[in-house]
Amino acid sequence: MIVMKFGGTSLGDGESINRAVDIVIQTLKDKGGVVAVVSAMSGITDTLLSAATSAAQGDGESFRRARWSLSDRHRLAMTEAITREETRQQLMEEIEALLSDFESFCRSIHILGELTARGSDAVVSLGEKLTARILAAALRDRGERATAVEATEVVITNGRHGSAAPLMDETREAAQARLLPLLAQGVTPIVTGFIAATKEGVTTTLGRGGSDYTAAILGACLDADEVWIWTDVDGVMTADPRVVPEARTLSEISYAEAAELSYFGAKVLHPKTILPAVERGIPLRIVNTFNPSKPGTLIVAEPQPSELAVKGITSIEGLSLVTVEGRGMLGVPGVAARVFTAVAQEGISVLMISQSSSEQNICFVIRQEAVERALTALEMAFETELARRNVDRIWAQNEVAIVAVVGAGMKGTPGIAAKVFGALGKHGANVISIAQGSSEYNISFVVDEADMEDAVRYIHREFRLGRSGC
Ligand code: ASP
Ligand code: MG
Repeated sequence: MIVMKFGGTSLGDGESINRAVDIVIQTLKDKGGVVAVVSAMSGITDTLLSAATSAAQGDGESFRRARWSLSDRHRLAMTEAITREETRQQLMEEIEALLSDFESFCRSIHILGELTARGSDAVVSLGEKLTARILAAALRDRGERATAVEATEVVITNGRHGSAAPLMDETREAAQARLLPLLAQGVTPIVTGFIAATKEGVTTTLGRGGSDYTAAILGACLDADEVWIWTDVDGVMTADPRVVPEARTLSEISYAEAAELSYFGAKVLHPKTILPAVERGIPLRIVNTFNPSKPGTLIVAEPQPSELAVKGITSIEGLSLVTVEGRGMLGVPGVAARVFTAVAQEGISVLMISQSSSEQNICFVIRQEAVERALTALEMAFETELARRNVDRIWAQNEVAIVAVVGAGMKGTPGIAAKVFGALGKHGANVISIAQGSSEYNISFVVDEADMEDAVRYIHREFRLGRSGC
């Protein structure tokens, strides 16, 4: 049995929905069983979110307009994907019922003048509920047995609205109880991605882009043979093809490599997707709905041995490098702990850390939008040290980017770092800070945002990632 997830562009209009239907039918023939997980149509989650946000800010009109544009888009897709009048009629009623829920939610939010995380989850969950019903109906229209299933019945999480964490034991039990009988009867469940519920049944969401994660969670809980992520690119690539035109699709990579690449900005996979797959050793496959005959990228524990020490290069921009420096920090235990406690208490996540062994300088990278909060928190935490000059300066450099060079084969292979930094040196690209984790799967460094794309290109070329096979 295969768990397959269709992303927003793979369900973006009637034509795409028809393509998804073909894929499900073909896989049923080839593999016997399918559980499909769906995202909202591309752009819909953003529309829902901004309608709810503007309602909270006192706008009583936008959400009404949003309702009609949501209705138009889903109606149009439905008429393109479904031919039988009876199926259309019934589906239209379901769609209108969900949209009327949307309007009532927004009206309450408008009256209250406040959008809570819980309320936001309730509103954004509608996008996936719409596509699940449309895909299920489209399959039935083609003579298959299929039914839409709310993930609130099968994925159980804690109550952290907006980025809830799954409770795997409870989810396993619920998912098996709800989905296995359907599969046994030959009915294909079409499950809403991204959304879930607490034990008490309150709707939560797994974080933006979370329907990949739903697919992996269900794959693990149902012991699927593979989890396929249908998207709009051919798989995981050696670099972003918009930056490096000669970038190639990787045919196989390890879980660890995929995790490093997705944490560091390769946008093919929600980073948390790897975890449930690793736990149960279930292979993940990234495939392109617009190019389904291509094998895509297979992500497994032990990929075929490869010549390539470096598999891919990714980058993230919009970052700030925060530095805490002072001669008085030398040999004083607890400075790093206090730095990161102060940042953590602000709920700011740290992407990369570097400390020179002279101990006079700790620097770390965060998203630029958090920089003011981080600096204020650090100034408060080190007030005494700043006054005594044990800490000389706490400051940030904005508009920087992280470039990450990833590959499991880098472990124990000498000369990789030399090659990476040699390539940059040759072209006069300046490196601001460097970090390599002891897993040796990833060398990351900070550059000025303006140098980021060049840095990726230089390294891609140096390692000949565009040409040699893997
Ligand atoms: N629809 C959700 C989002 O846009 C989840 C997803 O697409 O994976 O974030
Ligand atoms: Mg997505």
